[in-house]
Amino acid sequence: MKKGYFGDFGGQFVPELLMPPLLELEQAMDTILYSKEFQNDFATLLRDNVGRPSALTHCPNVSKDIGVELWLKREDLNHTGAHKINNTLGQALLAKKMGKDVLLTETGAGMNGVATATAAAMMDMECVVYMGAKDVERQEPNVRRMETLGAEIIAVESGTRTLKDAINAALRRWISTQSNTHYCFGTAAGPHPFPLLVRELQAVISKEARQQFLDRTGRLPDAVSACVGGGSNAIGAFHHFVGDESVRLVGVEAAGSGEPGCHNSAPLNLGSDGCLHGMKTKLLQTEQGQILPSHSIAPGLDYPASVPSTPTFRAAGAPST
Ligand SMILES: *Cc1c(COP(=O)(O)O)cnc(C)c1O
Repeated sequence: MKKGYFGDFGGQFVPELLMPPLLELEQAMDTILYSKEFQNDFATLLRDNVGRPSALTHCPNVSKDIGVELWLKREDLNHTGAHKINNTLGQALLAKKMGKDVLLTETGAGMNGVATATAAAMMDMECVVYMGAKDVERQEPNVRRMETLGAEIIAVESGTRTLKDAINAALRRWISTQSNTHYCFGTAAGPHPFPLLVRELQAVISKEARQQFLDRTGRLPDAVSACVGGGSNAIGAFHHFVGDESVRLVGVEAAGSGEPGCHNSAPLNLGSDGCLHGMKTKLLQTEQGQILPSHSIAPGLDYPASVPSTPTFRAAGAPST
């Protein structure tokens, strides 16, 4: 497989000026990420600062209602309330070891911003968060949390004033700040090596869940299901089950009513091939290639692109189009 690609998708579709920091990051993955020292330090952070391993909760009441035995992998119990902190702490640790002292990131609902600001505070790094101006207005509690943690928040006024525009602006900022700044990308998207890096850091979810499920039930689950926004909790929940033929991997996108023209946030199912944010992936776009605004009532899923998907991931993510 071509480096940085998952099937036809992925790659590095970025301006020339962003190649040096991406190559530097690739190199740091090779030399630092897989080292024993990094893996030990990361495991300690996840244990002491995130609260891992997270619980696997059996839900007998809902199970009765829906007719399947439902178990929840409780990423909501992590410090800062979501899986995002697995990724941001890992990237902060990597950036620190690379000698960077600023974490740059984007946020939509604010969860990734809070998780990055938390990691930066822990590591004694500066934090700069790009956020669509519309999101700054509607996600006030998370804006306040980020400010309390010492982050600088930049409200982005371009485009739809949401996540997509915040990512564009943050990538532009990285061009001029790359010498001391790491771009802590929040999901399994963006140019190589981010999808790979985020997968490696979020894979702790399925590493724990697979063992917990075996210990509790003596068998593997029939299926693992996860919501897909950018794809990071899904790929993290799937990764250690990919080799298990008997386990169905089901990614769920926010399709809205599914009617043509209805605003949705389901690019893997309803989108077409294109390039955005440095990767080739499935996009919500017009025939002319203009990005369509996505919509979901879950702000964390509101993104017109998604993880550069592999055939395995496609098979996991509902019917192919
Ligand atoms: C960020 C977020 C998502 C969507 O992001 P993924 O990268 O697809 O995981 C979904 N749920 C919650 C709670 C989130 O914070």
